[in-house]
Amino acid sequence: IVQVCMPLNTLGFVFRETNDALVNVERMFSVLAGERYGEAGGGIGDEDRDEPGARDLVVAAGEIVFEHVDFGYDPARQVLHDISFRASAGHTIAVVGGSGSGKSTLVRLLFRLYAPSRGTISIDGQDLRQVTRRTLREAIGIVPQDTVLFNETIAYNIGYGRVRATRADIVRAARAAQLDAFIERLPDHYDTRVGERGLRLSGGERQRIAIARAFLKDPPIIVFDEATSALDTRSERAIQTEFRRLAQGRTSIVIAHRLSTVVDADRILVMEHGRIVEQGTHDELIARPHGVYARMWALQREQGELEHTQRRLAAQP
Ligand code: ATP
Repeated sequence: IVQVCMPLNTLGFVFRETNDALVNVERMFSVLAGERYGEAGGGIGDEDRDEPGARDLVVAAGEIVFEHVDFGYDPARQVLHDISFRASAGHTIAVVGGSGSGKSTLVRLLFRLYAPSRGTISIDGQDLRQVTRRTLREAIGIVPQDTVLFNETIAYNIGYGRVRATRADIVRAARAAQLDAFIERLPDHYDTRVGERGLRLSGGERQRIAIARAFLKDPPIIVFDEATSALDTRSERAIQTEFRRLAQGRTSIVIAHRLSTVVDADRILVMEHGRIVEQGTHDELIARPHGVYARMWALQREQGELEHTQRRLAAQP
């Protein structure tokens, strides 16, 4: 159990201090959606117009399928190679892989911030090229690693983007994200100002704001970018619990940095240099004698045991 809760850092899975991967997605998404984001911005490239004849996405079950997807930001340099996987309706897919292996790029394609150069991505059988971006993005909620907060009240920050949300909706979402007890302790409760010029929130609290936003949005599909930076173990467990509750009954993709998250997933994609080198359940993957995942797991265990022994020795008089 101890090893299971440790960060996935042994194999260089967590080799960076700041992760702005999905923050970028969120920002680009907001710009595309024409929302105010405190900065001027146009679309990105020529990718921001719907195809002629694009139809609204209709999500029934929420099954996501990638089929032989290739992609490069620059035609001269391919970043994703032949990506194929299926996220069945209601399942949680964990994506693991080192820095630069293509995890965030995969999510950007799901948002249709870019289109594949080959292959198709579909949701419930509808090719993302043929659906309107507005309906696609309504169907997907993101919980980024680092949530952008506005110099506004905590209620505004939770309700951000949902103009029709009532105070009761916001309080319900905050409860679902286990933020309400924290908010009740603040001087002005839901009207407390946060952000640069207000209350500074911890990484875990910010991520919980994003979880509350996602509860409020109530989309059939969720993308969760797990924090790489170490939160304390209690916050980490709490976030995982909240995320699991959010993921209930939705299809979710988690960029995972904690073994416990990975172990719980219905399917694991192991990425290296823009390819899925292994995929399967935890049990299937650890059973592969020389598998990348099996090696990572073994190393993680060894490190866990080592730390356990060191702690025991240090505790001895
Ligand atoms: P990390 O864990 O560090 O966030 P990642 O697995 O999410 O990494 P990506 O961000 O998807 O990896 O990057 C995959 C590759 O694509 C990298 O080689 C990266 O340099 C390149 N890349 C990412 N974003 C862009 C961009 N906007 N323009 C050009 N190249 C990019």
